[in-house]
This record gives sequence, structure tokens and C-alpha cells, in this order.
Amino acid sequence: MKGLMMDAPLSIKTIMSHAEMIAADTKLISRSADGDISRLTYRHAFVRVAKLANALDRLELDPEARVGTLAWNDHRHFELHYAIPCTGRICHTINPKLFPEQVRFIINDAQNEALFIDPEFIPMIEAMRDHLPSVKHWIALCTANNLPQSTLPNLQAYESLLNREQESYDWPVLDENRASNLCYTSGTTGDPKGVLGSHRSIVLQCMSQNMASQLGLTSEDVVMPLVPMFHVNAWCMPYSAPMAGAALVLPGPQVSDAQAMTDLINQEQVTFSLAVPTLWSGINQFLNATGTRIPSLNRGVIGGAAGALKLYEEMDRHGVRLENGWGMTELSPIGSYNRYLPQHDQLPDDARADQRLKSGRPLFGIQMRIVDEDGNTLPHDGETTGVLEIRGPWACSAYYGKPREHDWFNTGDVATIDPLGYMRITDRVKDVIKSGGEWISSIEIENAIMAHPGVREAVVIGVAHQHWSERPLLVVVPEESYPLLTPEQLLSFLEGKIPKWWIPNACEFVDTLPHTATGKVSKKMLRENFNRYQWA
Ligand code: ADP
Repeated sequence: MKGLMMDAPLSIKTIMSHAEMIAADTKLISRSADGDISRLTYRHAFVRVAKLANALDRLELDPEARVGTLAWNDHRHFELHYAIPCTGRICHTINPKLFPEQVRFIINDAQNEALFIDPEFIPMIEAMRDHLPSVKHWIALCTANNLPQSTLPNLQAYESLLNREQESYDWPVLDENRASNLCYTSGTTGDPKGVLGSHRSIVLQCMSQNMASQLGLTSEDVVMPLVPMFHVNAWCMPYSAPMAGAALVLPGPQVSDAQAMTDLINQEQVTFSLAVPTLWSGINQFLNATGTRIPSLNRGVIGGAAGALKLYEEMDRHGVRLENGWGMTELSPIGSYNRYLPQHDQLPDDARADQRLKSGRPLFGIQMRIVDEDGNTLPHDGETTGVLEIRGPWACSAYYGKPREHDWFNTGDVATIDPLGYMRITDRVKDVIKSGGEWISSIEIENAIMAHPGVREAVVIGVAHQHWSERPLLVVVPEESYPLLTPEQLLSFLEGKIPKWWIPNACEFVDTLPHTATGKVSKKMLRENFNRYQWA
């Protein structure tokens, strides 16, 4: 017997209708590269979304067209996140910071029919235009006045496109399993791979994020994602903030300018933000150096890579409670989130601090397990490490254009899971250091060394070793205020904090670390830099 409830498909359109009902006058702020602020409300933005939907039809795009975007976090990109999927098409956010060959590969692999391009990226697209045969329409994300001279054929200004259109649109009722969003992995191993979300997967991810025991946004929040919308839809904030009735502040391109970002936080009274550790670290350093205060910002997600305890604790002192969220492009993206349970309040300080660094418990809907090299499941005892596998309605079952994966998705992360369900990432399989057949957790060493006040950034990588096959090498960006710091001091600082055999064989000082297109430290590039390293 079937239940007698209505068949109401979960769709991105339902998020839009809901926000129009509960948060029409809630603000949607967007900052451009030159610091200009656009002030919209969700009501205004959704009128522009309807105009954009009409424009997409006028361009005669295929009903299932993959429409590419190369854009920053701003109101136009927000509008694309709604108009494209709500007309049944697929919003394909492209990371413009990838190498041009990768951008070209991605556009061709997705067979994009139209590209919406921030003027900043037009020269890059012009250079590859002859190798993009599927693209029929080129739209610059600007007004007619700012439309650059370009060799792209019939390049149109986004605002001119919208100006011609009506303010209402007859939205179709779409199958909830219909594809809605496409995002490619950064391709750190091999070509980038497309992860194709659906209306249903996006809505479920947002509903689960918005539970009180998870990110738990409310209509009192003003959310500013520093994580870019081309990095898994800014972790879904353009959808989960309106779903919760929260205001949205889209910071534009200058997310690594800590002064501009803290000004914006204060000006718009931002309460909640999300970023990778490198960006949080930039804000922390700026606040430490200038004494600037950001009283409205009280909570934030740190994710995409492991953050050091020192960063959490210093941000606590600035009144911002950071919470660790783990995820990946293949997971739409959030899979687990770390908030304390009441019993954690009773823990001694060290244990409570350590608990914070775990990657948290799975969001409702996600199943997790760890397995050994033969695929045997391993105990959730908080000690045993294994490869993390996941399942769930917003986990990727196959890459775009590729055969189906197994029932469980292998995340490529190495983790422990404790009896309360808290998962802790200890490494990525490709970053794991195997010394004498045993795994060493680079993340735990990095965290231990970051507690030294003379360390600004630290990374541990495995380097070939004659006897042990691999040994850890510590690479440090020292604080300028510690000119007398020596590698030996740092290595002895680690004694007693990590197992003796994990202590790196050497420490090298560098001025900067290489970063990926999403702002994470690139261990791959660092390994390449040190691939001829000779142990003393
Ligand atoms: P990229 O390959 O560009 O890093 P993703 O953003 O999909 O693309 O990266 C997902 C990976 O990032 C995860 O598999 C994990 O290794 C790492 N990661 C994400 N969040 C965290 C976190 N909170 N702690 C540690 N590692 C994380």
C-alpha cells in the first residue's frame, strides 16, 4: 500500500518560492571588485531570476543545456544558480582559477552551450575560443556600459539580456531527480571529473545542513560565504541561506583581502561565514595585527582542509566560534559536521580541544564506514584507521559521462570513527606517509607544530627514504617576528606531543607554500618541489 501524501517534488524552485514567502525583504548584498555594493532583497533578486529565465529561453538553449559560469560570489552568479536549474537546465560552475587547459577540458567535456563570464576572465576564454566548439553564446557578467571590447562573437552584456525580459516566468514542474548543478573536481589526480547534482540532492543537502545540530542557519543569520560559488556552490549557501530565511552577503573577488572582508562583516553585520583554513588564517592574522573587532560574526565553518587548533583558539578570542565541516565535491559537498555534545563539556581542556578537531558526525542521510585495503569494514573505536567510504542521497554514484561507481563511494580519505560517530580525517590516501610499512598522520603532526608561536604555516610531506621507504619532512613558513627560530627548535618542540617515530627527520623553512585553485595548501606541488630532497 502506498502512503497518501502529495507528490510534491523537491526542487530548487521550491527553495525560491519558500524564500519569496518567508524572506522576500531579507537582504542579498553583493560586493564588486572595486568595492561597490549592490543592495537587493530576495524579492528583487527573484524578479531578476525570472527575467534571466526568459532570456535563457530566448537564447533557445537546449532544455537540458549545460550552461557554464566563470564568476565570483555576487548577485548575478546567485541569479544564475536559480534561473538555469529552475528552467530545467544545468548550472555548471567552472573554477576560473584552474589552469586554462583544465578550463578548456571542462567546458568541452560538459559541452557547454553558453558561457556567462566575469569580464576578468574574458581574455582567458578568448585565447581558447577556437577550441570550444559547443559554445554558441557568450555573455559578460556586467552592464552594457562596462562591456569590454572582445573577440568573442556577439558578446552580450548580462544586464542588456535581462533588460529586454518580462518580470514573470511560467516555471515548469520538474522531476526532482533531474540534473541541476554540475561541478568538476579540481583534478589533482588526472583530468577533472564532473559531479552532477540533482534538484533532490541539493534540497536534501540544504535541509540536512540546516538542522540545528549541524550548520543550523536561521532567519537571524547574515551569511557570508568566502568559499567561492565555483567550489561546490559555496558549499550550497546560495540555496541553504534563503531556505532558512537567512540574509546573504556575497563578497566578490577580494576574499583574501582581510581588511576588505572585515569591513564588509562589520558593515553588513555578518553573523556566519564559511572558508578554507588559509582564508580564516588570513583574517586571524589581520585581526591580531590591527586589533580590529568583528563583534557580529560569532560562528563559522572551517572546511575543505584540516585547520590547526591554534587557529580555532585564536578565532575564539576574536569571538568567532569555528566548527569543522568535512566534505568533498562528490558529496554536494558536506558529509559531516562537528558540534559538541553535552558530555564534551565535562572533558579536561586538552581532550575537549582535541574533540574539536574531529571532522564531526555524519549529516542525517549520510552513512559512513572505514575499510581496510581488502575492503573489510573496521571498528568504530576512535583508534583504528581505514579508508573512509560513504553513501547517501547527495553522494555521487557516477562521474559525469563515466560508468557507475560501487555502492559505497571511496572518498580517498583516511579516517577513524569513534563510538559516538565522530569521524576524524587523519590524511588523504595520496598524502599518507608510509614509514617502514606504518602510516603516519601528517595532519596530526601539522597540528602539533602549529601550536608553536613561531610557526605561521606548516605542512608535512613524505619524502623517499632509503631505509624506511618514506619519512616525514616538515616544511614551515616561520613568523617574521621569530627571526632566530631554528629547524632544530621546532623538531624538539614536537617531542612528547606525537609518537617518537612520527617526528620528521628534517625541517625546512620556506617563504610561502603553494596553494590549489580553491585556496588549499597543495601537498602535490610541495612534493614536486622537494622530490630531489636529500636527507642529511
Ligand atoms: P579538491 O580535490 O580540490 O581538494 P574537494 O574540495 O572536493 O576538492 O576536496 C575534498 C577533500 O578535501 C576531502 O576528500 C578531504 O581530503 C579534504 N577535506 C575537506 N574538508 C576537510 C576537513 N574538514 N578536514 C580535513 N580535510 C578535509
